[in-house]
Amino acid sequence: MESGFTSKDAYLSHFNPRDYLEKYYNFGTKNSAENQILRHVLNNLFKIFCLDGVKGDLLIDIGSGPTIYQLLSACESFKEIIATDYTDQNLQELEKWLKKEPGAFDWSPVVTYVCDLEGNRVKGPEKEEKLRRAVKQVLKCDVTQSRPLGTVPLLSADCLLSTLCLNAACPDLSAFRTALENLSSLLKPGGFLVIVDALKSSYYMIGERRFSSLSLGPEAVKAAVTEAGYTIERFEVIPQAYSSTMADNEGLFSLVGRKLSRS
Ligand code: SAH
Repeated sequence: MESGFTSKDAYLSHFNPRDYLEKYYNFGTKNSAENQILRHVLNNLFKIFCLDGVKGDLLIDIGSGPTIYQLLSACESFKEIIATDYTDQNLQELEKWLKKEPGAFDWSPVVTYVCDLEGNRVKGPEKEEKLRRAVKQVLKCDVTQSRPLGTVPLLSADCLLSTLCLNAACPDLSAFRTALENLSSLLKPGGFLVIVDALKSSYYMIGERRFSSLSLGPEAVKAAVTEAGYTIERFEVIPQAYSSTMADNEGLFSLVGRKLSRS
């Protein structure tokens, strides 16, 4: 079935971390739509974590996939980071980079870009080490479960971050809202929720393989976040689409919310 929702099993058998990294995060000289999106997202995350005061002790990144770009500015404002994903192959790819194993993906062009944004206080290799030190654990996670980190002793994060995961993991709007409620169990009252995802995207490609995406507009996203028990402090639209061979999105959004004290 080519259309339809991409199941968790399909992620386990078909999500190839290397192909994903090469298609979306090969930050070469080409001014592709993917590179422009990456730059926009890095700029937004820099603003959120380095200028807007989103900081604390523990940040949990939900659905990290095989990527670390989303943590580069976050490690300036959080002491500890936990990376998570549903698939073992993505967790292994992350470990490879964390342990500097041979064949790990080369994030150095992306790291250099973020160092520039942050005023070049440190050089790339030092920045990479800072992030490696901050990432304390790499854990399995499933946003469709009421305890997304399973039997891991309950954690209480100051911030949850999730980039390009929830639209992939949720078949419909009610699943999206439920996932946000599930994640809330990992967050302190008043804690920050930072989400970056595509707008109005019904699929994305990794090579020849198609993965479904929940197509939501800004208003639907905001309503779901509010109904799940968060305030919305900031909502920005990045009006850049992926290449037409990669996805059918109409831009992306970045959102900062806070968990209401009562929920
Ligand atoms: N955060 C990365 C990866 C996004 S790709 C980035 O910004 O590029 C989508 C990710 O969602 C994949 O890594 C996939 O394994 C993960 N995912 C899919 N279903 C999930 C679920 N139910 N729970 C947690 N993660 C899930």
